[in-house]
Amino acid sequence: MIKHDSLGPEKLIEVYDQKTKMKGFLVIDNTWLGVAKGGIRMTPMVTQEEVFHLARRMTYKNALSDLPFGGGKSGILISAKNISVEKKGELIRAFSKAVKELCPSIYIAGPDVNTGEKEMAEFVKANGDLSSATGKPEEMKGLPHELGSTGFGVVQAILEAVSFMNRDIKSMSAAVAGFGNVGSSVAGLLEKEGAKIVAISDSGGTIYNPSGLVVQEVVNAKKENGSVVKSKNGQQLKNEEIFTLPVDILVPAALGGVITDKNANDVKAKIIAEGANLPVRPDAELVLNRKGVLIIPDIIANAGGVISSYAEHKGFDEDHMFKLVESKIKTNVKKILEKSKEEDITTREAAIKIAHQRLESARK
Ligand code: NAD
Repeated sequence: MIKHDSLGPEKLIEVYDQKTKMKGFLVIDNTWLGVAKGGIRMTPMVTQEEVFHLARRMTYKNALSDLPFGGGKSGILISAKNISVEKKGELIRAFSKAVKELCPSIYIAGPDVNTGEKEMAEFVKANGDLSSATGKPEEMKGLPHELGSTGFGVVQAILEAVSFMNRDIKSMSAAVAGFGNVGSSVAGLLEKEGAKIVAISDSGGTIYNPSGLVVQEVVNAKKENGSVVKSKNGQQLKNEEIFTLPVDILVPAALGGVITDKNANDVKAKIIAEGANLPVRPDAELVLNRKGVLIIPDIIANAGGVISSYAEHKGFDEDHMFKLVESKIKTNVKKILEKSKEEDITTREAAIKIAHQRLESARK
């Protein structure tokens, strides 16, 4: 059930196109800070309620990154996960035409699960306005998410937390769960910063070496043989074992809900940076907070993607975009950590409080 509250949702839209049988949802949650921004997901089970919850996360995420964007999200139902590129294009074009009246005036689209630069190109062509979506290919003046802005932002958040704890990244070890767009850039960039990457997982399992893995070697093993576990330089573990290894930094960057009340007691990391959306369940968070684990909440840790969207919207180049991701994430992570310490509240509570304050002060 979708409950309206002081923030929204402002608009709940359901669209259907008879010709292509496209069924989709657009939720505009809140526009006090600006035009609603959020991606389009294409999945077989997407519901209006799911899209609403994601739109609300975008309201918080955009406010926390101090962007002049509100929160919105879209979902298009597809029959199976692996539909043809042609069918995907047809559905995206139909959805784009169906929401054209609101886009880009109060909603700007972007990539999400099962959509990327190709789909954004189709969306924009059907809309007729280049500013109707971000995450477009470079030839359309886009900054595709494939550049790795989200993973880069996760690493900036970790560096800020490490400095807040008066630690040195060069003396710290890390485990990265998930080795896709986000996880692979996090692992590579943390290694560059001098951290020791001791474990990496994907859907095939975990590869673990307490003396340190070489990320490029793991990239090659995955490319050649399909999974990180094919790397010859480590010991193979089950994928859930990565969450309880003796490491300083843990980055869940694959699925949500992976740290639960069942494994939270065994987590040994000092910092958890949420690369994925909501990987730490609320019951697990209580346990981790009691243990003094510093959690960098997803609504700031993985905001690099939407900051990149803002940079694209403003016409900035790649270099300018990465600088903006770094400054926005570091500044706001610092604010969250200081507020959490000063008010003796959790980092997630501090993050939500800051987002609410910014939203309230923008209220017309
Ligand atoms: P992706 O599809 O590129 O990669 C997902 C990775 O997770 C793959 O390596 C896959 O093998 C791995 N995986 C799947 N099941 C697993 C399991 N049981 N154990 C370990 N690994 C498993 O996805 P992505 O774009 O990297 O996104 C990762 C997460 O981050 C998602 O939750 C996504 O919603 C979130 N996120 C992504 C972005 C972005 O810009 N890409 C932005 C914000 C949030």
